[in-house]
Amino acid sequence: MKVTEHIKRAEKTLFSIEVLPPLKGQTIHSIYETMDKLMPYDPAFVDVTYHRQEVVYREVEKGLMKRHAVRKRPGTVGICASLMNKYNIDTVPHIICGGFSKDETEDALIDLNFLGIENVLVLRGDPIKSEGIFKPEPDGHAYASDLLQQVVQMNEGEYLDEELRNSSKTNFCIGVAGYPEKHFEAPNFKSDMKFLKKKVDLGAEYIVTQLFYDNKMYFDFVKKCRAAGIEVPIIPGLKPITSRKQLNIVPHFFHVNLPEALVDGIEDAKTDEQVRQKGVKWCIQQSEELIDAGVPVMHYYTMGKAKSIQEVAEAVFGK
Ligand code: FAD
Repeated sequence: MKVTEHIKRAEKTLFSIEVLPPLKGQTIHSIYETMDKLMPYDPAFVDVTYHRQEVVYREVEKGLMKRHAVRKRPGTVGICASLMNKYNIDTVPHIICGGFSKDETEDALIDLNFLGIENVLVLRGDPIKSEGIFKPEPDGHAYASDLLQQVVQMNEGEYLDEELRNSSKTNFCIGVAGYPEKHFEAPNFKSDMKFLKKKVDLGAEYIVTQLFYDNKMYFDFVKKCRAAGIEVPIIPGLKPITSRKQLNIVPHFFHVNLPEALVDGIEDAKTDEQVRQKGVKWCIQQSEELIDAGVPVMHYYTMGKAKSIQEVAEAVFGK
């Protein structure tokens, strides 16, 4: 079922999660362990992230380095199929512009359609770490809105090959990303909002937010979206802080602020377990306030840390 259909039918705030494919060389069992812990809270759908190839340099002889392209977390499509089969749950694979030509995207969408997957979260993807600035493939998409248009066209039976016009239609419900604290590359909030509106005008049916730790950021973002004419559901995404080092890692990678009260609380904690508990407690409080405000879905980034999400889910959805 489509994410939007889940939302339409729901009588209360839904629970959903995002999982990461395991590192290459590991088994799928870590995902099953996460699912086994979280299935009792009845997730409406599960997102599976997509990871582009990264470039790494390895020493082959003394001083001589060789360039390797490595995809550290392959398996998104296979994981979606496997979760649908094992847990009878709707999956939302992420699809990205980075590393994909339009032809490869078309073939990937055909695979997803044949598997009966009805949702995609359409993203640009981050730049390759060593490059700093996002570079599309020569025959790829530069922005999520361009990739989104390709999905919309396939939903209308339009494929890249002119001779395949009016072919079989796909039926994807399309989600996109939104940033309560602004996307880090956007020159200002107004500009970021303009491009978010563009994604919605082109056919995005819901928005999932970047993680945030201050609900005011989300509430202000929703207000600004509504003022800009964006009417689709805006799903808040949360991730509890689970270790002291995340006080620096989270702002660095996700470009978000951590409220003083959260940081002070974590800094005062005596043990690693106390840190984790304070992070979980903060996330529970955020969730309860968001649910009271009537958000359609609470979406949690598990990032391989099912235990903390399980504790949040138990407190918030286990009643
Ligand atoms: P876009 O919407 O394309 O925006 C990127 C930037 O360009 C923004 O600053 C925007 O304001 C600007 N912009 C947009 N359109 C234009 C235009 N036409 N002209 C000029 N500027 C423009 N990354 C992954 O690699 N894999 C994942 O699975 C993944 N999952 C994610 C899930 C969520 C919920 C979120 C919030 C992020 C996820 N990301 C993932 C990270 C995401 O790919 C990055 O944040 C990326 O930098 C931006 O992606 P986007 O889809 O928001 O890009």
